[in-house]
Amino acid sequence: MIGLFALPGPLPGTADGTARTVVQDTIEVWVCTVPLDTQAPIYQPSALRLDLDPAVVAGQLDEPVRRWFATLSHGRYAPRFVAGGVLALGVAEGGDECLGRAQDRSRRTADAVLAVANAEHRADAHGGHGYAGAGCAPAAAPCPASVSRRGAYVGASDFHPDWGPLPAFDLVEHELGHTLGWPHSGSPASEYDSALDVMSDSTAPRSAYPGERHAGGTLGVNLADAGWIPESDIVQAPRDGSVSAYRIERSAGPTGLRLLELPLTADRYLSVELLTADDLHRHLPESGIAITLVDASAAACGTPCNRLRRRHVAQGHVPPYTDLLQAGEGPWSGHGWRVEVDSIDDGTAVVTVTHRPVAPVRSAEPVRWARPFDRVR
Ligand SMILES: [Zn+2]
Repeated sequence: MIGLFALPGPLPGTADGTARTVVQDTIEVWVCTVPLDTQAPIYQPSALRLDLDPAVVAGQLDEPVRRWFATLSHGRYAPRFVAGGVLALGVAEGGDECLGRAQDRSRRTADAVLAVANAEHRADAHGGHGYAGAGCAPAAAPCPASVSRRGAYVGASDFHPDWGPLPAFDLVEHELGHTLGWPHSGSPASEYDSALDVMSDSTAPRSAYPGERHAGGTLGVNLADAGWIPESDIVQAPRDGSVSAYRIERSAGPTGLRLLELPLTADRYLSVELLTADDLHRHLPESGIAITLVDASAAACGTPCNRLRRRHVAQGHVPPYTDLLQAGEGPWSGHGWRVEVDSIDDGTAVVTVTHRPVAPVRSAEPVRWARPFDRVR
């Protein structure tokens, strides 16, 4: 599905300088022109149409978005944007048709497609959508987007001339997260209310720094899902009632034990990680411990599990969940687990966890998102 290249030497963004496998995706950029008399309800009733050139858009995205993913992955993921083409939508066609027709026409070398409409969406409509695709038949490598249907679609707003020579990147980064199989996160009431995760409120960094164009970082569960935190750097706490203390490094860091899992059932657990208010999370008001309910049960994501429908539910107090758990605060308790922060110092935290079963675990029901804003399937 995605090209694998073992590079011989150190890569930009690798803190430890070791050689590692880099996943390189070729993402073909297509532009869909929206007719002025469009009947598709997603588009703003307006005559504004941007003069978007796929080669120009690919050039705008290429280095900044690749650099953002290099930071996030410590050099393990390198998307490359290349020009596709322009296609004209019919009056009844919207984002799905734009992406689907672009995928149909994309070259065999395209691992994914990014389709951009030249019209803005209505303010109350979703900004775009992204799909991880279905992969290809075994041994079919490479796996082109025309077969896998991997890709993303966005409206024109982030490319409006008011942004200046470079667009806003955060929504594209969010949608590309979906193409990697990452689901939304946030509260049961909204998929878009957490400032901790690009896969929730991707605009959160701009709230703190108005000139910021990029999204913030992501949760450790996504870094692990992508293989950017290896299994050897993830530890699972025992459910035997014992008190266990763990020293964890920040989940966005390059090395070390970075993710603590507190098991609930075979396919549900709590993830415990240290988020530090620097790098891609510099918009956070403080460093601290974040806890996320990860639900990959059949009730949440079906059988087999649709990765984009897994539930990542923030366990903080209230949106935007930036009131992270601190040393010296009372312990966090939930789902039969108790988490206490002993210390946070220079990118390292010591946390003590205890499993104290309660009967029965309350949230066996899948969380239902109330207001989907972009779509996954
Ligand atoms: Zn989304």
